[in-house]
Amino acid sequence: MKATPGTSVNIIGAGLAGALLAVLLARRGFAVTLHERRPDPRQSAPERGRSINLALAARGIAALERAAVMERVRPLTIAMRGRMVHELSGASALQPYGQREHEVIYSVGRADLNRVLIEAALSHPKVTVRFNSQALGVDLARDRLRLRDAANGSEHELPLAPAIATDGAGSAVRASLAAAGRVTVREDWLDHDYKELTIPPAAGTALLERHALHIWPRGGFMLIALPNIDGSFTATLFLARAGAQGFAALDTPAAVAGFFATHFPDAVPLMPRLLEEFAQHPQGQLGTVHTSPWHVAGQLLLLGDAAHAIVPFHGQGMNAAFEDCRVLDELLDRHEDWQALFAEFERVRRPNTEAIARMAVENYLEMRDAVLDARFVRLKGHAMALERRYPDRFIPRYSMVMFHPEIPYAEALRRGALQARLLEELDPGHAASAGTTLDLERAGRLICERLPPVA
Ligand SMILES: Cc1cc2nc3c(=O)[nH]c(=O)nc-3n(C[C@H](O)[C@H](O)[C@H](O)COP(=O)(O)OP(=O)(O)OC[C@H]3O[C@@H](n4cnc5c(N)ncnc54)[C@H](O)[C@@H]3O)c2cc1C
Repeated sequence: MKATPGTSVNIIGAGLAGALLAVLLARRGFAVTLHERRPDPRQSAPERGRSINLALAARGIAALERAAVMERVRPLTIAMRGRMVHELSGASALQPYGQREHEVIYSVGRADLNRVLIEAALSHPKVTVRFNSQALGVDLARDRLRLRDAANGSEHELPLAPAIATDGAGSAVRASLAAAGRVTVREDWLDHDYKELTIPPAAGTALLERHALHIWPRGGFMLIALPNIDGSFTATLFLARAGAQGFAALDTPAAVAGFFATHFPDAVPLMPRLLEEFAQHPQGQLGTVHTSPWHVAGQLLLLGDAAHAIVPFHGQGMNAAFEDCRVLDELLDRHEDWQALFAEFERVRRPNTEAIARMAVENYLEMRDAVLDARFVRLKGHAMALERRYPDRFIPRYSMVMFHPEIPYAEALRRGALQARLLEELDPGHAASAGTTLDLERAGRLICERLPPVA
C-alpha cells in the first residue's frame, strides 16, 4: 500500500499526538479518520485530576510550527523562566532554565491545547473525528480495527490499515498486539505516585510568581506547581506509594493536614481546598513503557505514549510525542511505502526516546533533591559560564533537551555525560565550599579536546 496523498489513514486516539498528526497528514492530502474514546471536547468538560497543565518546550513548538498551529496555541501559554525553589524555611529563589531571552518553557492547559488541535484538524475537509469511539483492539490477520461506541455500548469493526495508534500510555491497541504476541511490552512502574491539587487565585490575583515553575523539593518527595491562564496554579505532589512517608500513610484528613503543615507550611495557606481535593482527586501512577517493535509491517504503527510513555520529570512526554509527529512527517518526504516509512521511523526514533526515558527518570532526583544542594547550584553556574564562552560546544544538558530541537535526545544524553565528567574534573568539589572559581583556561582546553562543535 502506498503512502501517497489521497490515501485513507486511521488514527486511533485524538489526544495530543493524534490530533497534531491528523493536521500534518491532512496538509499532505491524506484522508484521516480519528477514533477517539472521549466525547467531543468542544462540548464537554475535561477529565479532572489528570495532568491539567503541561510544560511545552522547543521540540513541541517546532512540531506545532511545522503544522502551522503554533499561532493558535500561543495565546494558551504562559512563559516559565526558571524553577522557583521553595525551601522548608520559606525562603525561595529562582534558578533560571537558560540564559537567553528565548530560553523559557511554557505552561499550557492540556484540555485547551487538545481542543485547539482537534479544531485545527477539523478545519481540514479531509479529516473526520469519531468521538465516543473506543478502540478495543486490532485483528491483524483480518485487517480489522475493533471499536465500541462509548455512547451506546455497541461494537463494530472497520478496515484497519494503514493505522497509527496514538491512544496513550494505557494503549488498548498496544495491549491487543501484545496479547497476539506481535509486540513485547515492558512497563517499569515507579514506586512514587502523583496527585493534583489547586492553588486558586485570590481576588483574581495569582498567589505565586506566574512566570516560573514552582518546586518544593524535600529529598524523597516534592510538590510542584505550574501556572494556568486564569491565575490559578496546578500543584502536583509526587510521593512514594508506600511507607511511613508515602500516600499510604495519608489515609485520614488529619494525616494529610499534618504532612503538609510539616513539609510544605508555606504552600498550605495557598490551597484552601487541600483536604477536599486530596480526598477526591485520583492518585496517578507513573512509569516508563518500553515496546518492541513499534510497527507491524505497513499495517500499524504505535506513536507517542502508546509506544514509549515516560515519567514526567523532564516535562518531555508530550514534547517527544509531538517530535514523533514531526519526524514522521519529514520521513514522508522520502518514503511512499508505509512499511518502509514505519520501519525508518522506528529506526530513527527509538534511540532518542530511550534516551529521554532515561533522562526523565534522572531528572526526578535532580528536582526533588539536588536543586537544594550547594554544589549542584555551583556546577550549574559553571555550566552556564562555559556555555557563554563556548556556545557551540558546551550546552548544559537541560538546555539541549529543552531548547535545542536540532540536537537529538540521544546526542544530548551522550554529550551531557561528557560534560558532566569534565565538570567533575574541573571542580571535584570534595567540600561543598562556595566560591570555587573555574580554571577557564583548562576548561577551554578540555572542551576543545573532547567536545566537537554541535553539528
Ligand atoms: C502528571 C503528568 C505530568 C506531565 N507533564 C508533562 C509536561 O510537563 N510536559 C510534557 O511534555 N509531557 C508531560 N506529560 C506527558 C504527556 O501527558 C504525554 O506524554 C502526552 O499526553 C502524550 O500524548 P499522546 O497523544 O501520546 O497521549 P495522550 O495525550 O494520552 O492521548 C491519548 C488519546 O487517546 C485516547 N484514547 C485512549 N484509549 C483509547 C481507545 N481505546 N480508543 C480510542 N481512543 C483512546 C485518549 O482519550 C486520548 O485522547 C505528563 C504526564 C503526566 C502523567
